[in-house]
Amino acid sequence: MQRLVEGVYHFQTVGFANHRPLFERLTHVQKPLACFITCSDSRINPNLITSTEPGDLFIIRNVGNIIPAHGSDGAGESAAIEFAVEGLEVPDIIVCGHTNCGAMKGLLGSSDDLRRMPAVQRWLHHADATGRIIEENYQHLMDNARLTAAAEVNVLVQVEHLQTLPVIAARLNRGRLNLHAWMYKIETGEIFAYDIQQKQFRLLTELRAAAPAGTGVELASAELERVKA
Ligand code: ZN
Repeated sequence: MQRLVEGVYHFQTVGFANHRPLFERLTHVQKPLACFITCSDSRINPNLITSTEPGDLFIIRNVGNIIPAHGSDGAGESAAIEFAVEGLEVPDIIVCGHTNCGAMKGLLGSSDDLRRMPAVQRWLHHADATGRIIEENYQHLMDNARLTAAAEVNVLVQVEHLQTLPVIAARLNRGRLNLHAWMYKIETGEIFAYDIQQKQFRLLTELRAAAPAGTGVELASAELERVKA
């Protein structure tokens, strides 16, 4: 805890002063570039990996970067998404999963692993489709490859859930919103984005020039390239 207190002191004496014009500009208004939905995992820092600053990203985090489908018990998530889309009019929503995700491990493991975490177990039911897709289509993958496949499929499943929310459906219908499925590779810092044409995740820096907006990820989880290395 002492480290955090020292960190706060450092921010107030050095960091804030360095960013004073930015914080003054943000005092009364926020106009984020995108809504960024990712895992609570401490190894992911959305601003760091996108080289963005306070005010740039409206961030929603939870275990497994999950978005409960409309009508299920995800009041917190749907309220935050509604606020981002309707209140702040973000033009883009990114769902970003990651390698070596503890939530995906839980999803793929036996229920015994989650015996002492009943709330997590209940929460992961919102990723049941991910578990089922992996079980039926990715049996040939082992260990880490299977875990990464689960994280990739889960991002696409959650993007599908996103589209069941009325506010999202309406905006998509008007062509005023783009959805993106990303995967962050912790060990290299690389980000992969789902490419609907190629039905696979590709290095985002390669897609940079080709597909600046709207990668159109609807119903993609069923089509994700199944033959993986
Ligand atoms: Zn995670």
